[in-house]
Amino acid sequence: MPETTDILVIGGGVMGLWAALGAAEAGLSVVLVEAGKIGGGASGGLLGALFPWMPDRWDAKKQYQLDALAALPDEIARLEDATGLSAGFRRVGRVVPLPGPHLRDIALRHQRDAEANWQAGTTRFHWHVRDGAPDGVDLDPSTCAAGHVFDTLAARIEPRALGRLLRAALERQPTARIIEHAAVTSLDPVRGRAELSSGHAPLAFSHTIIAAGAASFPLLQSLLPPLPKPLGQGVKGQAALLRATLDPAAPVVFLDGIYIVAHENGLAAVGSTSENSYADADTTDDRLDAVIERARALMPALRDADVVERWAGIRPKAIGRDPLVGSLPGHPSVIALTGGFKITFGVAHRLAISALDGVLGRSLAPLPENFTLEGQLRREFGPRA
Ligand SMILES: Cc1cc2nc3c(=O)[nH]c(=O)nc-3n(C[C@H](O)[C@H](O)[C@H](O)COP(=O)(O)OP(=O)(O)OC[C@H]3O[C@@H](n4cnc5c(N)ncnc54)[C@H](O)[C@@H]3O)c2cc1C
Repeated sequence: MPETTDILVIGGGVMGLWAALGAAEAGLSVVLVEAGKIGGGASGGLLGALFPWMPDRWDAKKQYQLDALAALPDEIARLEDATGLSAGFRRVGRVVPLPGPHLRDIALRHQRDAEANWQAGTTRFHWHVRDGAPDGVDLDPSTCAAGHVFDTLAARIEPRALGRLLRAALERQPTARIIEHAAVTSLDPVRGRAELSSGHAPLAFSHTIIAAGAASFPLLQSLLPPLPKPLGQGVKGQAALLRATLDPAAPVVFLDGIYIVAHENGLAAVGSTSENSYADADTTDDRLDAVIERARALMPALRDADVVERWAGIRPKAIGRDPLVGSLPGHPSVIALTGGFKITFGVAHRLAISALDGVLGRSLAPLPENFTLEGQLRREFGPRA
């Protein structure tokens, strides 16, 4: 006989962990099935930058992300209090050097946009345009020829510490169970039944949340009528960890796709590449060498820092380039929770609530149209999709 559960969560990355925790906290029974080890996918990386979208052209999805970023510290603190673990979160802000005057003009427009739009409840966040290089951040002065931006909304988290925290919080829930090293090999949404690999008994579920990262797209697509294009793709990224004595309170630095993130443990993460095609998912190569070199050029303090770890992962990018959340047309018991691409760590807690809203018949975190599967299909393939 299959084990029966209210919620089957497929995938133990940051999306699946938040969803499983939310379901268990709502009193539902939940089984989280992870093909490898918890946090062993894209969520087991190094960077953990929590960046907002640009403050211009304001819309519901930008407000959703802003509210999520604003709410994250309290969510993390609640779990840290319960488990005694740390997620390495800090709202350190972000510095963006401005090498040329035209970039300063754009930044000044964004400063006004942020004053108008960056508000979550009564909390305001700011996008300051300042002269010269930032105090206390060791940057090549030529990169700040036209000044720099400092925004007060960006933050950072230590991805692996977050995974450990979420796992520990989930393990404290009496209605939750984790199965590692077993993949869901087939789903029958009509009978509410999933087959598992590795000799595990099948599972019977009322709802299933597909949070399998980039592997979610073919799984979801197998349950939909044929589409002219894939529902999403994996985008490879490479990053590295350097032993550098940066101040852990230092802002995240970002310039031309290069991130430098100082973590609490005295290590600095640098990244990242964006590769739409790749031969294998796990290896690093000279593209990462180039990223490290650019980071060293940007921040002289990294020039002699030893590389402690090189890492690669596959980011899930949905067809509409936004997170892909919510129930499948024709299969209300199947809920997508994927596609966070480069912003997942800052929004996964809210997206999980949104995913569960459909199950629990409530509306705690209404989804912007762009984040729903139906919205993304309509945008890509027209109103009849
Ligand atoms: C180099 C790099 C840098 C990044 N930097 C940032 C950053 O600074 N900030 C940010 O917010 N995001 C960043 N990201 C993106 C972020 O890591 C991902 O968007 C996020 O981790 C995706 O989480 P997820 O839970 O959707 O997927 P994953 O973490 O990939 O989890 C999916 C899990 O599902 C499991 N799985 C797959 N198929 C099955 C199956 N059939 N059955 C059971 N389990 C299955 C996998 O084993 C995996 O563990 C970065 C990514 C990379 C690669």
